[in-house]
Amino acid sequence: MGKEVDINRVVRQHAEMEDFFSGGFAVRKEPPAVSPLRVVDAEQAKRVAIELEKVADEVRRCRQCGLGSLRTNAVPGEGSCNARIMFVGEGPGADEDAQGRPFVGRAGQLLDKIIAACGLKREDVWIGNILKCRPPGNRDPKPDEVTSCLPYLQRQIELINPDVIVALGAHAAKTLLDTTKSIGQLRGIFHEYYAGIGHPPVKLMATYHPAYLLRSYSPDNRRRVWDDMKKVLAELGLPVPQ
Ligand code: SF4
Repeated sequence: MGKEVDINRVVRQHAEMEDFFSGGFAVRKEPPAVSPLRVVDAEQAKRVAIELEKVADEVRRCRQCGLGSLRTNAVPGEGSCNARIMFVGEGPGADEDAQGRPFVGRAGQLLDKIIAACGLKREDVWIGNILKCRPPGNRDPKPDEVTSCLPYLQRQIELINPDVIVALGAHAAKTLLDTTKSIGQLRGIFHEYYAGIGHPPVKLMATYHPAYLLRSYSPDNRRRVWDDMKKVLAELGLPVPQ
């Protein structure tokens, strides 16, 4: 029976991987055999959820940088407080600003499909950004905005304590790794994100932002993102499609 389930899973995941490379995506209906969520006791999960909501409340009231007065909604981030994977992008776009949720526009739909191709669901991970409010016209974040906003994400990472952070795009990767290297230099290998004194470093994989992938939807770029995600799955002990 167990072997039968595994074969079915491998066949489904292979189909989704093929779908990824052909430009379409399928959505998995069943969870992977190994949990993508951290096993924690109910009390601890409740405590983390309460603390994360406190951070989200602060974000929604925040006016620490100029973006606070320009937003429709702040976008604190969302997902499981027991997530082993945190996806971190650059900042909200127009759709995210309108809904107060991360990655819900076209780039978000592509991220959903990448997550599904990994055999996961959105509820299995946490998704957020460096900036919690939308820069006008989707311009690049300014250094003072990043400096003001980054502590919120740092607290979220500390609370969730993921096994892997996936930095989506150059801005997220360079900010979290405090480096000026390009995304081309950073992607494809694991780095270490330092959450602070007393906290063990968290593995960080940088890959292309889904918005960039949409603009440059070449087989090579899809292959690079997929290779990066396969390394993340392997690191977590989750099934890796061959
Ligand atoms: S971008 Fe961040 S620091 Fe600036 S107002 Fe929004 S939540 Fe506050």
